[in-house]
Amino acid sequence: MTERWTQSPKVAVVGGGLAGLAAGSALAESGFRVTLFERRPYLGGRASSYQHPGTGEVVDNCQHVLLGCCTNLIEFYRRIGVEDKIRWFERMTFLEPGGRASVIQPTALPAPLHTAPSFLRASCLSLADKLSIAAGLAALTPITPRDTGESFLQWLRRHGQTERAIDRFWKTVLVSALNEEVDLISVPYAAQVVRESFLKSRAAGRMGVPTVPLTELYNRAGDYITARGGEVRFRANVESFRAEFADVKLLLPGGEESFDFVIPAVPFDVLSRLLPQTTAAEPLRQTLSRFETSPITGIHLWFDRQITDLDHAVLLDRTIQWMFHKSRLLVAPGAGGPQPGCATGNVGATETNSYVELVVSSSKSLVEKPRQEIIDLALSELREFFPGARAANLVKSTVIKEVHATYSPRPGIESHRPSPETVWPRIFRKPALSEVERRKECSPTAQAVGSRWNKTEPQRGERGVSPACLCECLVRFFRPFGAMPFP
Ligand SMILES: Cc1cc2nc3c(=O)[nH]c(=O)nc-3n(C[C@H](O)[C@H](O)[C@H](O)COP(=O)(O)OP(=O)(O)OC[C@H]3O[C@@H](n4cnc5c(N)ncnc54)[C@H](O)[C@@H]3O)c2cc1C
Repeated sequence: MTERWTQSPKVAVVGGGLAGLAAGSALAESGFRVTLFERRPYLGGRASSYQHPGTGEVVDNCQHVLLGCCTNLIEFYRRIGVEDKIRWFERMTFLEPGGRASVIQPTALPAPLHTAPSFLRASCLSLADKLSIAAGLAALTPITPRDTGESFLQWLRRHGQTERAIDRFWKTVLVSALNEEVDLISVPYAAQVVRESFLKSRAAGRMGVPTVPLTELYNRAGDYITARGGEVRFRANVESFRAEFADVKLLLPGGEESFDFVIPAVPFDVLSRLLPQTTAAEPLRQTLSRFETSPITGIHLWFDRQITDLDHAVLLDRTIQWMFHKSRLLVAPGAGGPQPGCATGNVGATETNSYVELVVSSSKSLVEKPRQEIIDLALSELREFFPGARAANLVKSTVIKEVHATYSPRPGIESHRPSPETVWPRIFRKPALSEVERRKECSPTAQAVGSRWNKTEPQRGERGVSPACLCECLVRFFRPFGAMPFP
């Protein structure tokens, strides 16, 4: 059966986080009439910023970074016109307590050897550590191992990794990238991160950091959708949906609304609540119930002076894992480009101040701790790494705990990951767009959706798209987003 529309199909996207915004932008570009529903009064979801009531500062929910291998995310930024708001770094500084630095950076050597010279010089690892890491990388290079239920920590021990190689290399890379402890990470997930970010190419391994607050970045996606005839509705809490033969009904506080297609782009626990109370929904509800979350904690500190001239650093052997020097990374409003020492226009906006965000991924040990205890811990650790922080006075501070930051990429979970298609032909599960999505190389996105749309042969005066074709477009669009963590 071929269904034809005299005008473009109406698509409802539920959720204004990265996934919903990326889907909405690509579909709006391809000619769909998009309505995006967001229950909050702002966009960005877990990747948002807001004026923090306690400090008066605009803070990101947490520092968000991307890597050069995050091709889908980069394409999304390009589409909505914010690629110039990302500052790229090729040089990573690993600090030991006491402040000794090891710098990893690429050279002219071809991948996967491009960082080998700096890796060999790194003082934070011994020769034995480096040899064991090289052997581990070599084992992961030819093929991504299958998920046999083994944890990555077991895999590392089986491959003769030294304790320091595990602590200072593997944990450092993977706990940040996958937001889980190595004894709870599945082997294929770990392998994919390492292969895509370390071994693939020089460009794939560079780190991108937004130079504007996150909501400013993602508001542009809302503008992009509305500029193409779409609509963004804030404070619009979708309560449920009902799939029918000819359309899908969205249940909203004000009543029902009908759409040709619906894309729920919400976290898995929310999706579970949105599902209709029917037996058809049970298998998906069961699948979603298998996913667990893992926390991330961000500690924001404002000092009365510069504590370091580094833009960011990896901090080894302590609770805090990363330092992002936000007053050097953020561009002051109205300024033309990133300016060292300049920040958001608030405290930390001069060269004499420092605003830093410290990040702890998989921060299970901090979830129950009181705020002041976390700040005291962070301050004392920071002072071990940065002598400049010892004399500096703390002007203000805040701690942001995201208890359900991302899902836990445990052994076996991948086989339960639902596909973008659902039992309802008009409903597509949201793409999971983030840390690991970025690592997926194939990216048909809007071009594919658009070209599929145009490849159908509309009759004179109408745009014709069969449901099968449309589904294929959507599925092809979502497949690259649907294979890795951060659902
Ligand atoms: C602290 C922290 C740090 C992170 N760091 C990184 C990083 O450095 N790099 C990286 O790539 N990823 C990072 N992530 C992960 C990344 O933020 C998320 O994977 C990504 O933002 C998820 O986007 P999403 O659209 O899938 O979901 P969400 O961001 O959760 O968006 C869902 C949206 O749906 C809305 N919504 C929910 N229910 C309804 C409803 N019933 N009706 C209407 N709207 C609804 C919500 O308000 C929300 O805006 C981090 C996450 C956290 C929490």
